[in-house]
Amino acid sequence: MEQVDVLVIGSGFGGSTAAALLAAEGSSVALVEAAAEWGGSAGKFQRKDFRFPVGATLGMGYERDGIHDKINRRLGIEIEKRPLHTVMNVAIADRVYPYYQNREQFLRMWDAKLPHAAPAIRSFYREVWHIAGLLRRHMVHFPVVPPATFQEAEALLKGFHPAVLRCIPLLQKPLGYVIQKHGLQHEEDFMHFLNGVLLDSMQTEADACSALLGCTALDIYHRGAWYIEGGLYRQIEALVQSCKSNGGTVKKGRRIVGIARSESGLWEAEDHKGGRWQAANVVLNTTAEDAASLLPAEDRAKLSGRLRRKAVAQFQWGAFTMYLALKDTLTEKTPLFHQFLVNPDKQAEAGNHFFVSISAAADSHRAPAGYRTVTVSTHINPDDWKDKTAYDQYAAAIKKAVLAKLETVFPGFTDEAVHMFTAGPLAWQHYTRRTGGKVGGFPQTPDNALYRAISHRSGITGLWLCGDNIFPGAGSIGASSSGVHCARSITGRQPV
Ligand SMILES: Cc1cc2nc3c(=O)[nH]c(=O)nc-3n(C[C@H](O)[C@H](O)[C@H](O)COP(=O)(O)OP(=O)(O)OC[C@H]3O[C@@H](n4cnc5c(N)ncnc54)[C@H](O)[C@@H]3O)c2cc1C
Repeated sequence: MEQVDVLVIGSGFGGSTAAALLAAEGSSVALVEAAAEWGGSAGKFQRKDFRFPVGATLGMGYERDGIHDKINRRLGIEIEKRPLHTVMNVAIADRVYPYYQNREQFLRMWDAKLPHAAPAIRSFYREVWHIAGLLRRHMVHFPVVPPATFQEAEALLKGFHPAVLRCIPLLQKPLGYVIQKHGLQHEEDFMHFLNGVLLDSMQTEADACSALLGCTALDIYHRGAWYIEGGLYRQIEALVQSCKSNGGTVKKGRRIVGIARSESGLWEAEDHKGGRWQAANVVLNTTAEDAASLLPAEDRAKLSGRLRRKAVAQFQWGAFTMYLALKDTLTEKTPLFHQFLVNPDKQAEAGNHFFVSISAAADSHRAPAGYRTVTVSTHINPDDWKDKTAYDQYAAAIKKAVLAKLETVFPGFTDEAVHMFTAGPLAWQHYTRRTGGKVGGFPQTPDNALYRAISHRSGITGLWLCGDNIFPGAGSIGASSSGVHCARSITGRQPV
């Protein structure tokens, strides 16, 4: 039996961040990952000479004092990355809206595309970016709400400015409220644009998205968006390596099958190969639902009420993903990220709305010279995919719809493919151990967001949670923040 201070189960953004920071703070750490690759939803897989990021591809939080910048500086990690001046092209039917990182260039794009709505769009973004700026003053200190310790209260109060009180009336409001205030709710392409961006980042559209988190999401690309050479898995691998360099034990291909408290009060965990660990603290980088399933029934009942409720009752999206390796016929100027809404009159999911990420021409981490790899992802409702016939039909229909659209934008695209793989919710469940293949985190509605999110405190001493199901939720930035919260609570020190 291996004895450590902290056992971290899962190497997604949350777990690898917690493990690396804990090891750097001097804790003895074991990081155990079920899959053959690190990173979960932000991992990779390899086929012959090609590497495919499985899910997350677009890097954020690398600007000065952004979360990854802070963590990487603390750990001495250098990540090869390039800033994206055009974050992505958003195509609504055949109309293309470039998402510029530069705020003024972005506003000028709207002036030109929707001149009749330009003053309202400008005043909307002025308000959104102002609110996001107020929140950012807090976020850089990694606040948790509600705070449970003096240290957390201090983190919440740092960065306080009286102007932030202006945000309080928005706490329970959806972003749709702010949009209506500026009279933009009937501006169809603008709404499709916002909804697409929010669906990818907040897992819900404007009418349901928390106003405060929505403002943050609509600000974040303007703080900076990055292409990470190879993919975001390299960030994860750097965190794992940092954990190891600071004395941590890191093991892949070990699935923890159960954890329980021993009579000594320490946690004991066993993996599927019979390996055993004992630790004073366990950090679970799983979904809320899967966290509960690792515990004995008597401990499940002691988990916080919110965790128990949300673990079973909350909807989460699934993903259908496609991975292609192609002969490179694209120009240097082709943006690396695209979002497509094929038919604006239909639901923005299941092949009608999808995100495309293309490797840079010279990115040898992903493809040999003369080739590129492409990852395509679309939201699906995992409940629709439970029966085998429906599963196969949905998969075939999405693949056809995506390829048909890509063929119109990049003629010859399909003919140039040397590899093409797909993954539905069963594959996602298998490779990330997320039951039902539910990925991305809870939709960030006012009922799930901020002080209504699940805390990194499980309700049981020495058992902690991190990942995109946990406050502050959704996406790699939210997952990493919860990893920081775990490291801070366990060590009692501010690790970044
Ligand atoms: C298709 C797709 C595209 C996305 N694109 C982006 C993007 O471009 N940018 C962005 O910032 N975010 C993106 N996201 C969101 C982001 O990838 C995730 O929110 C984030 O990576 C989740 O991290 P996590 O900490 O919750 O861990 P997860 O990714 O869920 O990883 C958890 C890990 O724990 C392991 N594990 C679970 N149970 C056990 C066990 N019992 N024993 C051992 N190990 C276990 C799993 O194998 C897994 O590796 C995307 C997500 C998806 C699905």
